[in-house]
Amino acid sequence: MAEPLPICYLNGAWLPLREARISPLDRGFLFADGVYEVIPVYDGRPFRFAAHFDRLTRSLDGIRMRDPHERADWHAIVAELLQRNDATNAALYLQVTRGAEYGRNHAPFPDVPPTIFAFCSPLPDPSAATLERGIAAVTAIDTRWSRCDIKSVALLANVLLRDDATPSGAQETILLRDGLMMEGSSSTVHAVIDGVLVTPPNSERILPGTTRSVVEELADRVDLPRVTRPVTEAELRNAAEVWVASSGRPILPVTQLDGRAVGDGKPGPAWRKIWQAFLVYRNECAKLPW
Ligand code: PLP
Repeated sequence: MAEPLPICYLNGAWLPLREARISPLDRGFLFADGVYEVIPVYDGRPFRFAAHFDRLTRSLDGIRMRDPHERADWHAIVAELLQRNDATNAALYLQVTRGAEYGRNHAPFPDVPPTIFAFCSPLPDPSAATLERGIAAVTAIDTRWSRCDIKSVALLANVLLRDDATPSGAQETILLRDGLMMEGSSSTVHAVIDGVLVTPPNSERILPGTTRSVVEELADRVDLPRVTRPVTEAELRNAAEVWVASSGRPILPVTQLDGRAVGDGKPGPAWRKIWQAFLVYRNECAKLPW
C-alpha cells in the first residue's frame, strides 16, 4: 500500500497528516458515530463529485446530522486538498463525525461542532496481472447491521468479513443474506447471467455504490442488456461473470469464487467491454468541469 499524501484537512486547518490529532472523546472514536466517503480522483479531477456528495448528505441525514457545508464549500475544500498535495490519481477520504463532547454519553448533546477530516492516498490503476487474471473472492454470511445504505464509519463487520478472504489470498468477500447475494465487503457485486448484467436492487442492506451507476451507464453504452433484480446464491455460483465495483478498484472481474472458477476462470468478454468503456469514459470526464 502506498503512503498517503502528506497534507490533510481537519476542521478548517491544513496540517501534515502525521501531525493531525483529534480528541479521544470524539464520538467517531467512542461510538463510530460518523459517516465517510471515498472519492476517486483522476488527472486531478474528482470522479462523480456530485454523486459522492449526494450520498454524503444522505448518510448524514440517515444518522440525523446536518450537512456541515454547502456544496460549494465542499468543492473548495476538495479542490484545495488536491492542490496542496499536487494529487493526480488519488483516493480522497472524507469523514464527518458528530464531534467531541466533554464526556461519554450515548445520547448526543445538541450543537456540538462536527469533526471534519479529509486526506488522500495515491490511487494506482489495477496492475496488468490483475486485469489479465482477475481476482479471487470468497463468500460469507452478511453479519452487518440493517442500515448498510448509510456509509457509516462503523466498519468492524466489513473489516472482519474482508479478513475472511485473507487466508486464501482472495481479495474480496461477497456477502450472502437469506440465500441472496448482497454486495462485497467494500464493493458492489454485478453478475452476468445468460448474457444479462444483473445487479441486486439498492435497499437498506446494500450501499448505493457510485461506481455501480457508472457500470450501469457503461452497460447501456456498450449495449449490454441489464436488469436490477435479486441474485440468488446459486445464480452467483453459476454466473458466467462476476464483477466487483468500487471507487478504489474500480471494476474488477472475479475469476475464482470460494476456490472454484467463475465461468472459464478468466475475465469475461462483457467485463472486457465495460473496462474499455470505463477507460474511455474516464478520459472524457477528465476534460469536464466538476
Ligand atoms: N458497498 C460497500 C459496502 C462499500 O464499502 C463500497 C465502497 O467502499 C461500495 C459498495 C461501492 O461504493 P462506491 O462505488 O461508491 O465506492
